Amino acid sequence: MTASNRIPLAGVIGSPVAHSKSPLIFRTWLRQLGLRGYYIPMDVSSADLEAALRNLPKLGFVGVNVTIPHKEAVLQMADQVSDRAALIGSANTLTFLDDGRIYADNTDGYGFLENLRQTAPGWDPKSGPAAVLGAGGAARAVLSSLIDAGAPEIRLTNRTRSRAEALAREFGTKVRVQDWVQAGNMLDGAATVVNATSLGMTGKGELRVPLDALAKTALVTDLVYAPLETPLLAQARSIGCTTVDGLGMLLYQATPGFERWFGMKAEVTEDLRAVVLR
Ligand code: NAP
Repeated sequence: MTASNRIPLAGVIGSPVAHSKSPLIFRTWLRQLGLRGYYIPMDVSSADLEAALRNLPKLGFVGVNVTIPHKEAVLQMADQVSDRAALIGSANTLTFLDDGRIYADNTDGYGFLENLRQTAPGWDPKSGPAAVLGAGGAARAVLSSLIDAGAPEIRLTNRTRSRAEALAREFGTKVRVQDWVQAGNMLDGAATVVNATSLGMTGKGELRVPLDALAKTALVTDLVYAPLETPLLAQARSIGCTTVDGLGMLLYQATPGFERWFGMKAEVTEDLRAVVLR
């Protein structure tokens, strides 16, 4: 078989990987678009990661998504790294180029922004400061995309203040760190509010931030999507804010990889959301 008539293979690499929604998302798109191709979950240990990545192109793989715990490690193994992956410090989308080289990209920030743009078309990131809670891997993608989108100031808070300060040093003077215990204060005048902590997720603790200072003109979004409407979103909605759940980010971050690997644009639709929620 020549490379051109091979059925394209893609997948997601992580450990564990059984929880990943990516196979469901990609298989739904492949089916809807009537494309030939397979998408496979692969549980690969850190010790086997590099060998797996070097061998997958030889087996017909055109690319893979990467999830916990390999998102940082793959950057060292890639031959080419996109600017945004370098800035975020991790990759979630690897494309195997025709010559076998590995191109690493991070589409989390794209997914985050695209979800807000499509779901809340009236939202203008430039219209006021953003308030971001959390300083983990997801927060890095959120910061880079908000800066890209022209947010004039980013107020950042995290339980472990030193992690927020490290991000502020990396991302520049637009990012101002606030104390976790005073997180409510940073909502005053914020145009965009983002929960990038894992609080609010089913089985995790509650995010306890007083919303008294929140204006109803603010857009509030949560990266957590289980439950779909977190207590933060429910409260913000009751104030009158526009709210956007985190499921769209998960779906939109997958679209660039799909297009690169299978050659057609994938749509994020209500049907897809329903399939993933089922
Ligand atoms: P991470 O790197 O492990 O960071 C976790 C963050 O949550 C840190 O800021 C951490 O603060 C904070 N946190 C955890 N437990 C806390 C507690 N009890 N009290 C206060 N803060 C706490 O995880 P991540 O990759 O950034 O992911 C964060 C969340 O975003 C997760 O829920 C993840 O599922 C979600 N996410 C969603 C998408 C999507 O597509 N919708 C994409 C990526 C991530 P410390 O630094 O103090 O520990």
